Amino acid sequence: MNLHPDYRQISHWAIALSEQPDYQGLTYRFLHLLEDLPWIDQAAAYEVYGERNLKTGEARCTSEQLVRRFPLDFAEQPQEEDIDLLKEFNSSADLTPSKPNAAGLFTQIVAPVRELGGPDRALLLKGTFDPPALALLTDLISIYRNLVALHDRKERDPLTKLPNRQSFDARMLQVCDYFRSHPIKDCYLEKSSWIAMLDIDHFKRINDTHGHLYGDEVLLMFSQAMERHFRYNDFLFRFGGEEFVVILNLVNQADAVSTFERFRTAIERQQFPVAGQVTVSIGLTHIDHQTEPAHLLDRADKALYQAKAGGRNRLVTHPNPNSVAG
Ligand code: GH3
Ligand code: MG
Ligand code: MG
Repeated sequence: MNLHPDYRQISHWAIALSEQPDYQGLTYRFLHLLEDLPWIDQAAAYEVYGERNLKTGEARCTSEQLVRRFPLDFAEQPQEEDIDLLKEFNSSADLTPSKPNAAGLFTQIVAPVRELGGPDRALLLKGTFDPPALALLTDLISIYRNLVALHDRKERDPLTKLPNRQSFDARMLQVCDYFRSHPIKDCYLEKSSWIAMLDIDHFKRINDTHGHLYGDEVLLMFSQAMERHFRYNDFLFRFGGEEFVVILNLVNQADAVSTFERFRTAIERQQFPVAGQVTVSIGLTHIDHQTEPAHLLDRADKALYQAKAGGRNRLVTHPNPNSVAG
C-alpha cells in the first residue's frame, strides 16, 4: 500500500481544520478528511456518556456506556450497534488498532478524545491500515484533539463542562430553523421542542452562608443532576451564574411539564453537602416556528420571573400565543 499523502496535502488539512469556527464544524471537516483517504472506509465520532438517560427521567442503573454518534442533533438515535467496538475506549492508549488480519493489516481503530473541558469522546475508523497509516493517523488525531480542547474552552463552561451561552445561541438558531421547515400545529399533542430557564433559588444566600467554594459545589452537583435527569438528545447549557437552560426535545406539552416537575422535585429532595436543601425555579415555553429565538428566551424568562414572584421552587409555563391550544 503506497497511498499516503505528501506534506503539501497535510498542510492543507491542517489549514482546513484550524479554520473551523466551532467543534461541530471541526468534527464534520475531520471526518470528511478521514473518509477521503483511500484506505479509510468509514469514520465516525462519538460522545461517550456514562450516566445520561435514554429516556427522560429514567435512572440508568447499569454501568454500560451510552454513546451518541456525531452529529449531535436532536433526532432520537437507536442505541449504537458499534458500542461493542468502543470497548477499547477505556484503554489509556491514544489509538487502539484491532488485531491484525492474515495480511498483517488492521481493519479497525478506536481513538479516545479525552479533554478536561468537555465530555469523553471517541473516534472509530474502519478500513485497512498498515503501520505508516497508523503513524499518520496518530498525528492527525493529535491535531484534532488539540483543536477540540481549544473549542471546548470557548464553547463550554469550565466548572460544569456544559455548553455555555455562546453555544446556546448557535444551537437555538438551529432548532428554530428546524421548526420553521417542520412546523408544529398543536404542542399539546405533537412531539415538539421546549425551552426552559432554570434559576437556583436564593443562591446568593448559599454563597454568603457557606462561601463561594461550596456555592461552586452546588453548581457542579446541580449540573450533574441535570445530566442524569434529561435525555441524551436534550440540550443543556450553563447560561451564566446560577442560571441554566434546557432545550427539551421530542415531547408534547404534558410530558414537557411533567419532566420539569420531576426535575424540580428531584432537586428539592437532593441533599447537597453543606448547603443541605437547594431549590430551583423554572420558566418553560414552547419553541414555536413563528417566534424569534430572542423572544422565545424572553418568554421563558418571563415565566421564570413569575415562578420567583409566586414563591420560588415552582414551574411556570408561559402560554404559547401562536399555538392552536393556547
Ligand atoms: P433568586 O432566588 O431570586 O434567584 O435569588 P439568588 O440569590 O439566587 O439570585 P441573585 O441573582 O441575587 O444571586 C445570584 C448569585 O450567584 C450572585 C453571584 O455572586 C452568584 N454567582 C454567580 N456566578 C457564580 C459562580 O460561578 N460561583 C458561585 N459560587 N457563585 C456565583
Ligand atoms: Mg439569577
Ligand atoms: Mg437565583
